[in-house]
This record gives sequence, structure tokens and C-alpha cells, in this order.
Amino acid sequence: MVNAAGKFGPYGGGDARVLPGRGPTGAELVRSRIALRVRLKSVAPGDRLPDAGVLGEELGIGEITVRRALEGMCQDGLLDRRRGRSGGTFVAADWDTVVSAMHDPAQAASLDAFHLLLECGLVAHGAGEVPAGRLDGLHTLVEEMNVADDGARLAELEARFHLDLAEALGGTEIREFAADLLGRQCLLRPAPPPAVVREQNRYHAELLTELGRGALDPAVRAVKSHHQVRGS
Ligand SMILES: [Zn+2]
Repeated sequence: MVNAAGKFGPYGGGDARVLPGRGPTGAELVRSRIALRVRLKSVAPGDRLPDAGVLGEELGIGEITVRRALEGMCQDGLLDRRRGRSGGTFVAADWDTVVSAMHDPAQAASLDAFHLLLECGLVAHGAGEVPAGRLDGLHTLVEEMNVADDGARLAELEARFHLDLAEALGGTEIREFAADLLGRQCLLRPAPPPAVVREQNRYHAELLTELGRGALDPAVRAVKSHHQVRGS
């Protein structure tokens, strides 16, 4: 799979200014993808991460870059390194507390604005050309969000919806791009509360209905309405 690293390299520069849409450095990629994995509950606070070599292979970047990124995350308190036989690199048990100190509403808003444009573009790109069945998985996520009541589960499903939407309309490379935006957002602001996700889910359903009948303008309106809920 071609991922963001393969698409946007090279990496290793020390430029800390992260512009929305620019490819991430290796260190940013590691941070955002680990944050996204925590949101998607594929790894939990206190869990051991895969070895740096394995992570590097999964992310398409070198092991040394991954090691450096993990060290930086240990210094920030996001990860813990433990020595000995059962040692390794672990997601910090107090991950949520550490992350909340990193929140940056201004940067989160700027990424939101970019994410909105990305989704409007994807909807315009895909409207009228979405094959039957392509949206089935997304419909299932909407149904799951309608019945879920656990906050972490709702936040997980909300992230999955936007990743799968990016893939359904733009392919696997655009999914990686969306993963970068969402992963960075996980570090910049709190997970959306249940009431927000439930309201957004009305617009998820609306978007799928309009995409299903190839109605471009109403589909774009649903995307915009969804982002307004998030911003309010
Ligand atoms: Zn959503």
C-alpha cells in the first residue's frame, strides 16, 4: 500500500511549521498514527506498542526515524519505555491527561477547515459515480452510532466513518491523507462528546442518502452542516 510517507516524502527536515495538507515528517507521522490508533481503540493506554521495526514497516518509514519519534513521545509523556524482559514501549497509562495538556484549539480549527474542504472535494469528485454497495460499510457505521452509548465507542466510530468515507470516495491514498488529519486532531482537541457525535450522525446519514442518489448540492450541504456541529 502506498501511504502518506511514500506519497509525500522525503522526510527528516526540522521544519516545525505544519501546514494543513503538507505531507508529515516521519516523526509527525508516527505521532499522528499512534494517536489515531488510540482513538480507534486498536491500542489502549498501558498497552505495549509493536517494535520500532514493525511500526516502521507499517508506516513505510525507517526504523531509526521511528525510534527517534518514539523517544520524543516518551519525553512528552505520551509513551513509557520499560526495560527488562517484559520491557518495550508502552502507551502512557495517563494518555488522556497528557494529551489534554497539548490541546491547541487554533490549530485544531485550521485542520478542521482543511478537512471540510477535503470532504467537500471528495463528495464533488464522487457524486454520481459511487457504485452500488460502496457505501454499505458507511451505512453500517451510522447504524452502530445510532445505538452506541459509550463515549469512547462513539468517538471511535466517528473517526472510522471519516476514514472509510475518504477511502470510499478517494481510494486508499486519500484514506492515508485523512488518517493524517484525524490523527493530528486527536492530539489537538478532546474527542467529540456523545451528544455531538449523535447530532453529526444525522448528517452522516443525510450525506449517504444524497450520495446514493447522486445529488451533489445536498451532499455538500450535509458535509458543511456536519462540520458546523463540530465547531459549535
Ligand atoms: Zn462525523
